Amino acid sequence: MPVRFTDSEFVSALTCVNCGRQYQPGDTSSMTCLTCGPVDGILDFEYDLDAVAQSWQRTPLHTRPVGSHWRYREFLPSAQNRVPLDWAVGWTPLIAADRLASEFGLKSLVFKDEGRNPTASFKDRASSVGVVHALAHDARVVACASTGNAATSLAGHAALAGLPCIIFVPESAPRPKVAQMLVYGATVLSVQGTYDDAWQLCQSACEEFGWYNRNCAVNPVLVEGKATGGLEIAEQTQTRFGQTPDWVVVSVGDGCTIAGICKGLSRMHCLGISDRLPRVLGVQARGVEPIKYAYEHGSLPTSPHGSTVADSINVPVPRNWKKAVTGVRECNGQFNAVSDDQILNAIQLAGKHGVFSEPAAAASLAGLLQAVDDSIIRPGESVLVLSTGSGLKDTEAAMKAAANATLIPVEPDIEKVRQALHDMTKSDARMNK
Ligand SMILES: *Cc1c(COP(=O)(O)O)cnc(C)c1O
Repeated sequence: MPVRFTDSEFVSALTCVNCGRQYQPGDTSSMTCLTCGPVDGILDFEYDLDAVAQSWQRTPLHTRPVGSHWRYREFLPSAQNRVPLDWAVGWTPLIAADRLASEFGLKSLVFKDEGRNPTASFKDRASSVGVVHALAHDARVVACASTGNAATSLAGHAALAGLPCIIFVPESAPRPKVAQMLVYGATVLSVQGTYDDAWQLCQSACEEFGWYNRNCAVNPVLVEGKATGGLEIAEQTQTRFGQTPDWVVVSVGDGCTIAGICKGLSRMHCLGISDRLPRVLGVQARGVEPIKYAYEHGSLPTSPHGSTVADSINVPVPRNWKKAVTGVRECNGQFNAVSDDQILNAIQLAGKHGVFSEPAAAASLAGLLQAVDDSIIRPGESVLVLSTGSGLKDTEAAMKAAANATLIPVEPDIEKVRQALHDMTKSDARMNK
């Protein structure tokens, strides 16, 4: 369906990431560049930062209600005159892991736990903006293709807004995510193929049937929702620690999350909210690392393949690699890749410090540890690790991650409890010898 981007007085242009052609917000009703087409011609929002600065002077951030990302309304298309939906999206907590920081010789290590979002992943930032935008354009149906969380999140927001929602997921999506979509009442098409097949099919279906397309890579509005993650990191760390961390670590699939984070961080630096621009480390799963490859070689690898326990970043053909690569370059960042074993270990490690992560969310911690090993992140530096989704999203992986922890069967009798604890202490002592 044709979509206008005129809602925000702060938007200065939409720019094609491929050819640089600029559109005035009222100029185009196409979601993608008319010259480069729907595959390469992904558009990107640009803002009049002076106008935003004036608005923030009139109503400073610290005077605005906390609790959701709508406080950054200047940067959220369609947020101007619409009452946002009721859910408290964003404003997720920072969780300091001081013991972990000293174990790895870091000055500080903080998690930002995106699992606390309404549908338990970072994707709510994008879906909330997408659905508000869809409502503003009288969309009748919203649709997306997803490895799981984007769909779950869209399904939830559509339920809230009373909009029909159609989802395309690969057959392999974890059951808890599928259960969530079904309970929210979405129509779920389980595509017999890969995420890429699901993605293509959804694109065609949106064109064919005129549905609102929530796919982040194509619909530039969605990345603006994701950018609030970066805005928040900058504001929250500045308020709490008096400075922005040296590094922000983010897991990478399609590349929209990291692109949004980089955007948000750099806007806050331009607007003088943060004292500096942090470096951004993008973490991919070993074997599915096309964006890392593109960062190093300038284009995607020619034979996409791969598999990982981290379904949310299992994206062999990423659509938004250019935004991701550009963003990380601007933040003077890096990419690395981690194995499934590293990811499973990181789930357990994050858990022991109070953060329950699904595999793709724990990949960022795994990537941090790898970067410390490789001396990319150095002793004494401060790091923020984005945990993008809750561990409840994939309980099978969580059980694998906890494989070394034992479940102790006990009869309902206090003496048996005493005995079990005694045995446990003895076996711990044996193991520690
Ligand atoms: C989607 C997702 C990512 C990666 O985001 P991209 O925009 O695909 O790079 C990471 N972690 C989780 C939990 C996700 O759902």
